[in-house]
Amino acid sequence: MTDLAKQIRDRIESQRRELLGSNPLTFEEVGVNRLAAALLAVLDMHQCVEGVGFTADDPDGYGTVKEACSGCGNVDEYAVAWPCRELRTIAKVLGIEANGV
Ligand SMILES: [Zn+2]
Repeated sequence: MTDLAKQIRDRIESQRRELLGSNPLTFEEVGVNRLAAALLAVLDMHQCVEGVGFTADDPDGYGTVKEACSGCGNVDEYAVAWPCRELRTIAKVLGIEANGV
């Protein structure tokens, strides 16, 4: 499911390029770059990893969560399934459809 994070990054980069083109930067464009950088920093905090937590994947209801968010919950005990709410929200705002949204 790391594909969603890549889609978000690609969308941010394509929209940033579309807005900025190759012209010298205006004050507003510098602001757009900062917003894109801030969003990318948030994405860096939310990576798809393997975790442990409550999951329907395990017959006991608790065990390995194959796709969990590294930035949400406690990945070693209460893993949050990937894609997390934060990533789904960013994807939704950017018009990218994510499973479970
Ligand atoms: Zn997350």
